[in-house]
Amino acid sequence: MNRREPLGIAVIGAGRMGADHVRRIDRTIGGARVAAVADVDAARAEAVAADIEGCTAHTDPAAAMAAPGVDAVLVASPGPAHEATLLAAIEHDLPVLCEKPLTPDAASALRVMEAEQALGHRRVQVGFMRRYDAEYVRLKALLDSGQLGRPLMLHNRHRNVASPPFFTSSMLITDSVAHEVDATRWLLGHEITAVTVLRPAASAGAPEGLRDPQFVVLETDGGALSDVEIFVNCGFGYQVQAEAVCERGTARIGDGHALVTNMAGRWGGTITQDWSERFAQAYDDEVRAWVDSTRRGEVTGPGVWDGYAAAAVCEAGVRALENGGRVEVDLVDRPALYR
Ligand code: NAD
Repeated sequence: MNRREPLGIAVIGAGRMGADHVRRIDRTIGGARVAAVADVDAARAEAVAADIEGCTAHTDPAAAMAAPGVDAVLVASPGPAHEATLLAAIEHDLPVLCEKPLTPDAASALRVMEAEQALGHRRVQVGFMRRYDAEYVRLKALLDSGQLGRPLMLHNRHRNVASPPFFTSSMLITDSVAHEVDATRWLLGHEITAVTVLRPAASAGAPEGLRDPQFVVLETDGGALSDVEIFVNCGFGYQVQAEAVCERGTARIGDGHALVTNMAGRWGGTITQDWSERFAQAYDDEVRAWVDSTRRGEVTGPGVWDGYAAAAVCEAGVRALENGGRVEVDLVDRPALYR
């Protein structure tokens, strides 16, 4: 597909993320239009589609994908619904940007990988948007330059103000740490081989029964360690920080020191309150890059292999959380399509 006219996109799932992507495609990035929206909640699909000229509303994702003018699909339904939509999109050879997670577990991710391999070419990009965040991009470039020597450790902190009511202890791994799993693989260029989850006393600020915070240690096939403090009810702000410790120096991102104020005998700044604010630029650049590469007929971002690897690591992480101890990650051999 090498095209001059805008890419027609079907957005599947019109919740918080889906509605934000619809606004982004309609108003912020060029080269694309929202041609159809699907949500099992008809009123939600209609409300989102109503603001966009020529956009149709559906309750069935398949109907949205088959709507007039649809060339590509953006999946923003909840993770357990992704597999069915991905398999249908692959069957119709439609390019896809799928919000993370690709699917919630390794077995379903493998089924998507098999379908894409049967198609014979890559069609699916996974929404690991940190790969498009300006600070992460700078850290990756610095590590790749070799100036700091070999990375030995990565220290990550991931804190949210409060978790949504449906959040479970295992979702701290599958929904939140999933981002650090991908960031570790991408920044270091290593696969993750084992996961340990340590559980300090739960915060009194966390809902009853939620194991929050957790401390996760990821081991890699390059001999590095990546640790993640995940604390989803920290109360004070949304923070994502990463520090790489290398043989000849360290590099840190996420301190949020873009604006420092001095006033009345104190100095300070503000802390972002949620991911849509902290990663706004990353989401814009991710969707823009996906639209541009799709119009060129290419897939350039993280793909099905990355989604599968993250699912397998998170699955091992959930077992480590439940049973304690260290759990090894069992990955299939990487197929030729993803090398
Ligand atoms: P949400 O609950 O706000 O929205 C999900 C929407 O999907 C709802 O409107 C729901 O009615 C609809 N839906 C449910 N099943 C469906 C189906 N089978 N077909 C079509 N629509 C269906 O959730 P959200 O926060 O918008 O999350 C959506 C996706 O985005 C999830 O995969 C989530 O992990 C991901 N997400 C990613 C980030 C990120 O930083 N990249 C941040 C938040 C959410």
